[in-house]
Amino acid sequence: MVAVVPEMHKGECLCGAVQFEARGLADIWFCHCRQCRYLSGHYVAAAAVARDKVKIEGPLKWAPFTPTAEYAFCISCGTPLFWRQTTGHTLSVFAGSLAHTKGIEVKGHIFVAEKGDYYQITDDLPQFPGQPHAGGVRESFEAQGPNQSTRSNKEQSNA
Ligand SMILES: [Zn+2]
Ligand SMILES: [Zn+2]
Repeated sequence: MVAVVPEMHKGECLCGAVQFEARGLADIWFCHCRQCRYLSGHYVAAAAVARDKVKIEGPLKWAPFTPTAEYAFCISCGTPLFWRQTTGHTLSVFAGSLAHTKGIEVKGHIFVAEKGDYYQITDDLPQFPGQPHAGGVRESFEAQGPNQSTRSNKEQSNA
């Protein structure tokens, strides 16, 4: 059905009880928003993927985090693994749980206006005070699988 099969990425929680596979992960963004501060204790690196392109096995629990968002963690070890809007078609995978990130680019920093005051961002990646509107995280977060032909091509040339 789909001509180009996007790269498969695997990940797991710290104890290994939760295993997942994701196809067609989008770019990684660093998110400094208030939710991510509480979720991680610092800031989050995450890549979005279409929900129907993720296979998850093991004792995962979704926690209602805000009225509009929830995150998932392993019941055995507590590792936070995913975040999602309550309504939506994508899922954000926390990059630290991925076995590798081959073919995925780190795009930049978002919600910098909400970051903690105890650190500076010292890399040269683009920074956005909130969510970038065009060509930014939303577009990237919504991008998925077969429609993302330019990235799939790049991934193939890197492989
Ligand atoms: Zn675990
Ligand atoms: Zn965030």
